Amino acid sequence: MSGESVRIGLEIHVQITTLKSKLFCSCPTDYRGKPANTNVCPVCLGLPGALPVVNEEAIKKAIMTALALNCKVNPVIIFSRKHYFYPDLPKNYQITQYAGVGAPIGVDGYIDIYCEGKSKRVRIKRVHLEEDPGRLVYPGKSIVSSPYVLIDYNRSGIALLEIVTEPDMTSPREARILLDKLRAILEYLEVSDLTLEGAMRVDANISIPGGERIEIKNIGSISDVERALAYEIVRQREILRKGGRVKRETRHWDSLRGVTVSLREKEEEEDYRYFPDPDLPPIVVPSSLVEEIKASLPELPDQKARRFIEQYSLPEHIARTLVLYRRLAEFFEEAVKIHYNPKRIASILITDYLSCIKRHGLRVGEDKATPEKIAKLVKMVDEGTISVNVAKELIFKIILDGVDPEVEVKRLGLTQVEDLNYMLKLVREVFSEYPKAVEDAKRNPRAINFLIGMVMRKCRGRLDPRKVRDLIVKELKLKV
Ligand SMILES: [Zn+2]
Repeated sequence: MSGESVRIGLEIHVQITTLKSKLFCSCPTDYRGKPANTNVCPVCLGLPGALPVVNEEAIKKAIMTALALNCKVNPVIIFSRKHYFYPDLPKNYQITQYAGVGAPIGVDGYIDIYCEGKSKRVRIKRVHLEEDPGRLVYPGKSIVSSPYVLIDYNRSGIALLEIVTEPDMTSPREARILLDKLRAILEYLEVSDLTLEGAMRVDANISIPGGERIEIKNIGSISDVERALAYEIVRQREILRKGGRVKRETRHWDSLRGVTVSLREKEEEEDYRYFPDPDLPPIVVPSSLVEEIKASLPELPDQKARRFIEQYSLPEHIARTLVLYRRLAEFFEEAVKIHYNPKRIASILITDYLSCIKRHGLRVGEDKATPEKIAKLVKMVDEGTISVNVAKELIFKIILDGVDPEVEVKRLGLTQVEDLNYMLKLVREVFSEYPKAVEDAKRNPRAINFLIGMVMRKCRGRLDPRKVRDLIVKELKLKV
């Protein structure tokens, strides 16, 4: 798929999950799992006469996010009302920020992403704060076939950051990489825990040459954004190929069926009748506060990756992958302090560790490994106590069962063997068990790998496979 002329922009809604209370009232934020409509008050239910009071901590976290995304912070923040009727919105307007008649918290930023070894800058148009609406629950299989709708206002009024990019991405993969990077930044800032259900929802817009802009609403996960966009490219190209028109509209992503369905023709901004909310006075942001927040920013993924490259001489792609998970990056540095072999430790973490937890449906941090155990394992390999093959097996036991590699090596007798007589005995055994493979190996050097594999199986990985190969080659020559 040539992505050159596709244009993709994202509107990312992220709950500030690390706050104690909602954006304009004191209802707690831990609404998940509570009985429906119990985590509410007159303000977040939009009852007449109830007045919003802005959560100062939410403003600070939003400023922090804007700064981390390289935005300019507006000196005055204004909340506006966005009017529309929808059952999840009891006031019939949403308190949000709008550039036209107010001022969002941050504007004109960027996120740098790395795709196939190349760096690319995706511009951030704005970062603003708004209230989350309630939650509509569609019983049945899908939004389209549902016979009725239930409404739960527990979520109503949760602080939501909206991060809007320019349409700078040219492939679904780039969109995914951008979201992974954003997820990491928010994790480092302790703004949002995106592993919580519904903490991130994405509207993706996409246009392909010859068609109008399509918006896909409310996509619930990063991988679904990639899937939905890939689906749209195929769908729109097919329409154009048949001579049809791709008209501007809003579509819904049906994750179960893996398709998008039409919801409505796109509204225009003037339909929302934005105006500044008279209940919320403009908020002046002193430059001293911005400076203070800037100074308190933690080391962010890009900075950390640069430091890892300089300090530990890690290859760039390894450093960039390592920093995508804060816990993994911290884990790495702790392990390196115990046993200094940054390259081997980093490589175990981004290959063996990540693939193992993915395969077992775990998330980073949900495993039983510790920096001490990984450091011990690498130390045993470096000192020649165990072979790389044995180490590979042990890694999974460390991650999944939390075994201590030293104890396990002793228990199973996995110490690497240097005994040449033992090696020769096994090689000769294998030769007599697989005479046909021996004949093959004499003519075809590639067939030697099979013989090595059989010897390694017999010794349970305790021999050095390079030495086994040398010995097999020598023995083959004797037999010619
Ligand atoms: Zn409330």
